[in-house]
Amino acid sequence: MIVEPRPEHLVWLDGKFVRWADATMHLSAHHYGFGVFEGVRSYVGERGAAIFRLADHTRRLFRSARMLKLRIPDAFDADCLNRAQLELLRRNQLGDAYLRPFVFLDGFLGLRPSSRDLSVRVAVLAVAWQSSDTGQGSRAARGLTLKTSSFLRHPPNTLLSKAKANGNYLGGMLALEEAQSSGADDAVLLDQNGFVTETTGANLFLVKEGALFTPPVSSVLDGVTRDTVFTLAKAAGLAVSECPLTRDELYVADEAFITGTAAEVSAIAEVDGRPIGTAAVGPITRRLQTMYAAHVRGRGEGHPEWLTIV
Ligand code: PMP
Repeated sequence: MIVEPRPEHLVWLDGKFVRWADATMHLSAHHYGFGVFEGVRSYVGERGAAIFRLADHTRRLFRSARMLKLRIPDAFDADCLNRAQLELLRRNQLGDAYLRPFVFLDGFLGLRPSSRDLSVRVAVLAVAWQSSDTGQGSRAARGLTLKTSSFLRHPPNTLLSKAKANGNYLGGMLALEEAQSSGADDAVLLDQNGFVTETTGANLFLVKEGALFTPPVSSVLDGVTRDTVFTLAKAAGLAVSECPLTRDELYVADEAFITGTAAEVSAIAEVDGRPIGTAAVGPITRRLQTMYAAHVRGRGEGHPEWLTIV
């Protein structure tokens, strides 16, 4: 859960540290959803606060920008954005935090992204993250309820589906509203062929006879947490297959879970009113959750490269 910052809290905007209260934009600023962003987390662990997989998130941010032909000013290269994120955590004295680097267009109305009337702005927000309740009866303990959405995951040629781009989230927002209005925690989006893709902000895995299955990246965002789970699963001796999955396969999975920077590894208890497995957090999900929780706080075996110490 994100904690709303105080006015004196600092943000990074175009190379400068600016007070939260002063980080405002003109009303005419560009508003067509043409921008890219990342969601990144830092955790307090054995060696103090550290950002988890910072370089991988920054690489995806630059990849997303390239896909959209959004030219990030040369001064703000990957190294600069990594340093900005670390420095923001230090200056705001944050430990467990959520970071949001983003690149967007500023200017008046122009529709062509490369128009001279529009300028590319680069910003980073860092806010405290309070871990939600994990006690008995909490969402984390009971698992998530999902509902198949009437909105489809946008196909690769509708929007650039590998870009973590602002406008891509419109579909997810519509799906989330629909799912939560009907009492579910989140939505499962299908692709145009009816295969399962992901939820509104996380990748999806199912467990069948001790092996993991997840949709291929052709239809989902190539999640950093998804990739982490691949590595953890391998270390745990679990096979992972990327293959198209139908909703009925999900209904009869032994276990299912979602992965994401915000969601971490979260069990799915129910899809479309059908319990998944025993509708409790299954043993394989629990094992991966435990491994993930250890690694983000520097207590996992191997992969020191995943942590950048603040
Ligand atoms: N899919 C979507 C649509 C997302 O928004 C996210 C969150 N970034 C993910 C998957 C998971 O990606 P990651 O593990 O990199 O946070």
